Amino acid sequence: VWNNCLKIIGESVSEKDFRTWFEPIVPLRLANNVLTIQVPTLYVHEHLENNFVYLLRKAIDSELGPEGRLEYQVVIDKGNEKNRAYVINIPTNKTPQNKDPKVDIHADKYKSPFDLYELEGNGYASYLNPIYNFDNFIEGDCNRLARSAGMAVAQKPGITSFNPLLLYGGVGLGKTHLVQAIGNYIKQHDVGRFVLYVSCEKFTNQFIEAVRNNNMQGFMNFYLQVDVLVLDDVQFLSGKEKTQECFFHIFNHLHQAGKQIIMTTDRSPRELVGFEDRLLSRFKWGLSADLQQPDLETRIAIIQKKLQAEGIAMDIDVIEYIAHSIDTNVRELEGVIVSLMAQASLNRREIDLDLAKRTIQNIVQHVDKEVNIEVIQKRVAEHFGVTVDDLKDKSRKKELVVPRQVAIYFAKEYTDFSLKSIGYHFGGRDHSTVIHAIQSVNDMLKTDKDFKAAVQEIQKSFKTRPNKY
Ligand code: ADP
Ligand code: MG
Repeated sequence: VWNNCLKIIGESVSEKDFRTWFEPIVPLRLANNVLTIQVPTLYVHEHLENNFVYLLRKAIDSELGPEGRLEYQVVIDKGNEKNRAYVINIPTNKTPQNKDPKVDIHADKYKSPFDLYELEGNGYASYLNPIYNFDNFIEGDCNRLARSAGMAVAQKPGITSFNPLLLYGGVGLGKTHLVQAIGNYIKQHDVGRFVLYVSCEKFTNQFIEAVRNNNMQGFMNFYLQVDVLVLDDVQFLSGKEKTQECFFHIFNHLHQAGKQIIMTTDRSPRELVGFEDRLLSRFKWGLSADLQQPDLETRIAIIQKKLQAEGIAMDIDVIEYIAHSIDTNVRELEGVIVSLMAQASLNRREIDLDLAKRTIQNIVQHVDKEVNIEVIQKRVAEHFGVTVDDLKDKSRKKELVVPRQVAIYFAKEYTDFSLKSIGYHFGGRDHSTVIHAIQSVNDMLKTDKDFKAAVQEIQKSFKTRPNKY
């Protein structure tokens, strides 16, 4: 049954999500129409419930029918007491909350978009996820302005000049986390306030539904009651004229009434395309702050926080290795940690450097089919008849220097690593050594034909283009 479920799931998620979240799951039993699966950590359970609940529901529906249920079992290793596993069973929500009407398999039942909001005790539904708060949002140079502006807005919604507050940045850099933290903070400090979190995809779907059901009035009335509106991924509205127009009215009305508007986009307002000018100009009324890729120290702090939350200990050299190897975004970083925890828990072994290396290599290689630093080092070493360790060695022997420089050169061309991280992967060299190596290779490429041929031959063996071109 689980294998069939996996097939259904596999059709709808990326290979990477599948490997990270679904592959480590172990089916345990099927009894009384309840399928019990074992997930490696609480975090995985939470993530599955938050992100894939529809898909799981769909798979269970198709395998066990609508009465079928899924139950999770989480094995918790408590630090040193490794042999003692704590098992808890967590039943899934009966029916998924309707986070996204488009993929909601029960969507037909709803007559207006407002049925999509399940009401909370105070009469409102905020759709905030309580796991996101300021405490577990690590501050670094990459997000300092965004975080402090967010905090200011959280403390005085609608009152600061940061209205709207627009946070922008690439995927997985913490936009959703931060805006949800703002919403949660406001809700905690003032239960009477109607805080609403909505992704723009959902907003669009609700709008379409309202038009279809001739219920624009209801739609507008609903949104006009909101005190704090959090709109996630505004770039989704690009090119959707009618939805934008509707949002424009909501925006004006709320803003005039002193209500707080918080938005995220994946790029700066200047780079947004497919938006009406009048809307864009409003985006710029308040404050725009960007979230950037976290630097090394922040990545280390994020990993440590994550591990702490899971109650797992890890050596600092392993943490540093991970932080040096994954510098794209926080989501990736978390994915690697989860994979590692899964591997460690399934194989009943510690997360050591070796396991970290293999897991990262596996994920990076398999998913992106890109050349990674290990592959580069291996190929270059093979070509020059040296070992990978030689490349990381401190020796200045000429027969080692050139291969090392070539490998560094390829690392710069083919990976997104910073100079600092490249240096780390080559025996802890500093970034000026890395710059020097790249320059030397560029010089030799211009002057030395044989050298150029050698470099090209190695390059061919990568069978993929470097990042830059
Ligand atoms: P985005 O919305 O920008 O694509 P998310 O907010 O979904 O990114 O972040 C991706 C993951 O990374 C989330 O699990 C989030 O909790 C985590 N994350 C991002 N930034 C931080 C941070 N500064 N501290 C702790 N966790 C973070
Ligand atoms: Mg997001």
